[in-house]
Amino acid sequence: MADNAKPKVGFYSFSGCEGDLLTIIHCEDELLDIFAAVDVRSFRLASSDVHNDEPLDIAFVEGSITTNHHAALIKGIRERSALVVALGACASFGGPQSARLGYDDWEKRFKKIYGDAKLTVARAFESQPIDEFIKVDCYIPGCPIDKHQFFFALTRLIKGMPVEFPSFPVCAECKWNENECLLLKGELCLGPVTAGGCNSRCPNYNLPCVGCWGPTKEANVASEINLLKERNFSETDIVNKLRLFGGAAMVRRFADLLGIEPQGPLKKVRSKKEDKHKPIVTAEVKKVAVPKGTKTKPKTKVNAKTGKKR
Ligand code: SF4
Ligand code: SF4
Repeated sequence: MADNAKPKVGFYSFSGCEGDLLTIIHCEDELLDIFAAVDVRSFRLASSDVHNDEPLDIAFVEGSITTNHHAALIKGIRERSALVVALGACASFGGPQSARLGYDDWEKRFKKIYGDAKLTVARAFESQPIDEFIKVDCYIPGCPIDKHQFFFALTRLIKGMPVEFPSFPVCAECKWNENECLLLKGELCLGPVTAGGCNSRCPNYNLPCVGCWGPTKEANVASEINLLKERNFSETDIVNKLRLFGGAAMVRRFADLLGIEPQGPLKKVRSKKEDKHKPIVTAEVKKVAVPKGTKTKPKTKVNAKTGKKR
């Protein structure tokens, strides 16, 4: 980008409800400032004047990848963009459409809905977050995203500054807002394992958090499961709730908890070295319901003193 040129940005949408792009387009008070700060080359909801073959400084992408056509498009966006930003839960974790990612036979589920219909336009597969296909530089969480977090990220990215979002959980904001804890009232709240940043939007209205900001990096999922089980919630209810917005992120956490070796059918472009918090989704995670009591072959551990495998 030339020194005096405005950064070129594009906004793209895959499988999802377009709630993130709608959140941006609904920022009437700030929209002119956005268009003044950056050169928007593609934003289908805002303008039919799209340029989908140009190099970009930043590509903002919402939605999950569901077909081979999507996969080709997202790879093309990556190739011509200096930075790629995942917008919202679907792009970041797969979204609700990935709630059963790798859990059971996707083709059976697909057939239940579509029968033997042959899709001729594109080959569909189980919905996955965009980082299963490309490297992602920044994640803006939420379902949908929060406009203040979007402005924060946009402002810093166009100035070449790093973007960091809260690492504390929703519970911290909930306490600051002096809410009465819903867990203590017998509700299944995911606040303890969900990334903060929404200002505890749901508990503020007496509604339990369903985890739409995705898990915090340090989320102690095992502890949350045990805590909820102690409150007599069934494993099925707990895991279904964790998977609802957790998608791939939760599958990865379960794999971490079980110490499963990375392998499996899902295409992967990241190495474990790149992001220790995001191990690759594995075939064996198909068997995972909850971390405890699952019959899955653990990693071989080495005794630190003797060096022997155990
Ligand atoms: S209501 Fe939920 S978010 Fe608030 S403190 Fe309790 S568990 Fe945490
Ligand atoms: S409280 Fe939880 S479910 Fe509600 S907006 Fe925040 S992260 Fe999403």
